[in-house]
Amino acid sequence: MANEYKKTMNLPKTAFPMRAGLAKSEPVRLKGWQDNHVYEQLMKKNEGHDKFVLHDGPPYANGPIHLGHAMNKISKDIINRYRSMQGYQTPYVPGWDCHGQPIEHKVEEMLGIEKFNQTPVDKIRELCNKFAVENIDLQREGFKRLGVLGDWDNPYLTLYHQHDAADIEVFKEMFDAGMIYRGHKPVHWCKHCHTALAEAEIEYGDETSPSIYVRFELTSKPAGLENFDGPVDFVIWTTTPWTIPSDQAVSLKPEAIYVAVEHEGRAEIMMKSLAEQVCEIAGWEYSPVMVDGKPYEVPAETFDHLHYKQPVFDGVEGVALLADYVGTEDGTGIVHNSPGHGVDDYYVCLKEGMDICMPVDDDGRFYVGEDFGTGGPFSGMDTDEANPHIIEFLRERGTLVAEKKITHSYPHCWRCKNPVLFRATDQWFVSMDKTGLRETALDQVKNHVAWYPEHASNRIGAMVEQRPDWCISRQRNWGVPIPSYTCADCGEKIMNDDTLDAVIRLFHEKGSDAWFTDTPESYLGDACVCPKCGGHHLKADRDILDVWWDSGVSWKAVCEFRPELKYPADVYLEGSDQHRGWFQSSLLTSVGANGVAPYKAVISQGFTLDGQGRKMSKSLGNVIDPNKICDEMGADIVRLWVSSVDTSTDVACDHEILARTSDAYRRFRNTLRFLLSVLEDDFEPERDAVAIADLMPLDKLMLARLTQVQAEVDAAYERYEFNRVYRVLYDFVVTELSNVYLDALKDRLYCDGVDSVSRRSAQTVLAELLSMLMRDLQPILSYTVDEAMAFAPRSLVDNQTYAAMLDWYRSPLSMDEAAHLLPVLEAAIELRGVVTKALEDARADGSFTKSQEVRVKAIVPAEAYALLTGEHACDLAEFYIVSEVDLEQGEDFSATVEAAHGEKCDRCWNFRESTGAHGGHEHICDRCAAALGL
Ligand SMILES: [Zn+2]
Ligand SMILES: [Zn+2]
Ligand SMILES: [Zn+2]
Repeated sequence: MANEYKKTMNLPKTAFPMRAGLAKSEPVRLKGWQDNHVYEQLMKKNEGHDKFVLHDGPPYANGPIHLGHAMNKISKDIINRYRSMQGYQTPYVPGWDCHGQPIEHKVEEMLGIEKFNQTPVDKIRELCNKFAVENIDLQREGFKRLGVLGDWDNPYLTLYHQHDAADIEVFKEMFDAGMIYRGHKPVHWCKHCHTALAEAEIEYGDETSPSIYVRFELTSKPAGLENFDGPVDFVIWTTTPWTIPSDQAVSLKPEAIYVAVEHEGRAEIMMKSLAEQVCEIAGWEYSPVMVDGKPYEVPAETFDHLHYKQPVFDGVEGVALLADYVGTEDGTGIVHNSPGHGVDDYYVCLKEGMDICMPVDDDGRFYVGEDFGTGGPFSGMDTDEANPHIIEFLRERGTLVAEKKITHSYPHCWRCKNPVLFRATDQWFVSMDKTGLRETALDQVKNHVAWYPEHASNRIGAMVEQRPDWCISRQRNWGVPIPSYTCADCGEKIMNDDTLDAVIRLFHEKGSDAWFTDTPESYLGDACVCPKCGGHHLKADRDILDVWWDSGVSWKAVCEFRPELKYPADVYLEGSDQHRGWFQSSLLTSVGANGVAPYKAVISQGFTLDGQGRKMSKSLGNVIDPNKICDEMGADIVRLWVSSVDTSTDVACDHEILARTSDAYRRFRNTLRFLLSVLEDDFEPERDAVAIADLMPLDKLMLARLTQVQAEVDAAYERYEFNRVYRVLYDFVVTELSNVYLDALKDRLYCDGVDSVSRRSAQTVLAELLSMLMRDLQPILSYTVDEAMAFAPRSLVDNQTYAAMLDWYRSPLSMDEAAHLLPVLEAAIELRGVVTKALEDARADGSFTKSQEVRVKAIVPAEAYALLTGEHACDLAEFYIVSEVDLEQGEDFSATVEAAHGEKCDRCWNFRESTGAHGGHEHICDRCAAALGL
């Protein structure tokens, strides 16, 4: 039935489109932001205010952006946009990590190994530089498209001269403080990549290794076995047969009990608790050696410093030591020590003052020779290749007791995925304990930095607590050199304040490339002298700094250096893997140089996985490419997805999840559109708003609710819990606004007089709602809110053109005032549930079709009755969209429905008792008559 009064009603209208078409509209909008320098305008707007500095962790410049990048950058943008609306100046300088092995590896692949090895260092570095810069451009476009505001034209690159120099400036501070030393130490070594690896570059994965049991014959009899006839052996166990040629000692567990098993006339020493198990593996009968009628059982201390014959090199002896790390679960309770190839072994033997033997070169091949310290019979063999030969050698000698394969967790190179070796080499280290770096860093972590989520503090705390000294040298080309020299005349290592200052000057001026092209004489000046022999021929050494050092000193090269930033920064935000990466290298260099953490707060995020919790990979076909999603659905969908997930843990994404996100987007968009449609070209807050005191009761209740929601949103943003922002807003918009309040208001908005107080009252609150939602959603739906700007009342959007420039929303009610009103709304909503049920029942049995046709008799308990009839009581009939609500006090909530009194109004379709005919308009209610001026 057509409504002939339709044109007399104030129906909603807006030019804000219902269909978003983000994929098309966003690029145009983005161009507008760029052409009109919105980021620069924003910096200008908050100039002179307190700064909030979120320091960007530099992504690695190799390849296009993935969903993890998108989540990272969008999260940062959400924070900056929020802080900026609060009035902070939020300079955001994006950065890129440009040095390091992955890029060098790409160049190596490009050239082929042979050509690569023949290419001069400066040429290789040029190619690496080119590769990094090209990838930065690719990534930069991707990040911008996501709507991320920042100083994209002036990012920081770790290959800038300034950054190179900062590397050495921090190095010098720490060197002067005595934290940096050159040491001989087993480090993870990748023989494929020819480099030492940091802990962060190690991935653990299962590996099948040969595990062997070997007898090492003692050169003297231990106490208690003096009268034993045959030879006495230690039975050792190892999973790295190739370390046997460099065996220097065995370790037994202090205070553990050891026994001797008799086999083929020999006494085989092993831990008592493991003895039967070992015999079973060896295929021996378990027959203990008896001494004075009792099994021979002695503590480990009995064997302390006894000697045995080195299993490969005749005439060489090893020594038995005691060490706590010996396990009691596997093996024999006696561990062979190759201190050149194991960390525990290294420390045990170092304590003994032993010379460390390390017979394996950079390629993982045994040095050629016949003496201990070379490969001996295995000269020139690769360690993997040597394993079976060594096992065979021991078998022929009759010292192999047993052999079996075991699968165990073993360190692998993060880059080439090959198993790594431990290898004692000359490296540069940062000492964690010599000058208390560990202690100060831990104090900063625990007492001076806020961690989000809180437990991240334990995670990085445990890592700092347990980490070994930081090996900062790498044997590669693409990085910042460690500024040390070797005297060509006497071999002395040279590094002092004068040489360091000269290098800092050199890097400022020419960058670290100069290290590889300029001669030390040309820039060292008077510092070009060997303090030992007085010679002037210094050779620049070739180790470079760990790439984590590079990005780690960005607090110096960027936060401290750039005048628009500050140090320490307010917040760092990265993936949780950065606890052992950038969070840590930044912490250690900042604490090392200045004694303070480089950040006041750290936000740690999880990884992006597919809908089933699997890693995204090309082979699984489950990769979500953020830029492709932008092209198909729009960046705001990606942004809304980021806000909807709990980023503090691993998060899921697939096309189904994005489709749901897209639905949620429509709910938000439709709500914005409705609010715009009832205000556009009709309501200007300054002209039309109703004073808070004069608002209709229902509107005042909603204003109270809005005040509460805003407080929740604010608190969630404060704690960087975007998914709580999303959840609170989604529930508010969908379950409260769309389904309840906005529906209830339609009658007043459409049918009351245009300028009536009742209608203006509704619009006043809807304007507050729009104002709030635009600001609350601006950090998330940055494009969409920006689109809405043009359609909103001017004063409501601070007379701004761009959404980023809005000020944060503050409700006109205080939380205290809201708290007085909210119980009334809660009671009304509780009763609404009961009424809705009664209406549904009545509709189901066919009594009524529309809720307007009924009146409700409701019984409510005393407390609710008092609220619903008290000072702040609202019109429940309007709220429930029924003709009347009769309230009675009773025990429990209940409601019954009856036919409405009066007749249906032709204009508003409400049932009202009319006072009479209104000049020819017979079926018109009094309110509509007034609106029509009858
Ligand atoms: Zn490798
Ligand atoms: Zn010298
Ligand atoms: Zn009417």
